[in-house]
Amino acid sequence: MSQQVLTLDISGRPYAWLDPQEAVTHYAKGRVAWELGPRLTTFHGGHNRHGLRTQIDVAPIIAIAGSELMAAQAWEPLHLSDRDNALLFKRDRWTCAYCGQKFPRRMLTRDHILARSRGGKDSWTNCVTACQRCNNEKGAKRVEDFKPLIYVPYAPCRFEHFLLSGRNILADQHDYLAARLPRHSRSRGH
Ligand SMILES: [Zn+2]
Repeated sequence: MSQQVLTLDISGRPYAWLDPQEAVTHYAKGRVAWELGPRLTTFHGGHNRHGLRTQIDVAPIIAIAGSELMAAQAWEPLHLSDRDNALLFKRDRWTCAYCGQKFPRRMLTRDHILARSRGGKDSWTNCVTACQRCNNEKGAKRVEDFKPLIYVPYAPCRFEHFLLSGRNILADQHDYLAARLPRHSRSRGH
């Protein structure tokens, strides 16, 4: 699995994880305003009019010039997907919110604190990680009729969201994102 490029808007907010092949098109269009970190990979193009072969070095972190990427949504927390539990389990460190034990991913489930049948949403603050056993025991009970939560679910900020969603995150990328977390989430151990 190849490394990804952490792509930022011009203000330094994470915008997307891109494959190097996608990132290089921003270089080719002259849209990379600044970059951080040692070279991730190099792309070789054709020969220019001086007979030199063009070469583009791609950095692990790039900021894209232009205001079009600074969409309003870029400033808001990202939603929890209703299909993919990977980010949820990672946020909760593979720990059941009811019994407090860690489990392998295959034994974990998504629990809706307020059950969907009662109108509960697939949101970061209404979902926690639960082991199969606790989830079965809870069933359709209300949380106040079951067990107190061991931790309080929260919506990750944009920087943490990118920490959770990146794969094979490089040290430079991790440091960039982790340094911008609010103090309380930095102590959670990123
Ligand atoms: Zn449990």
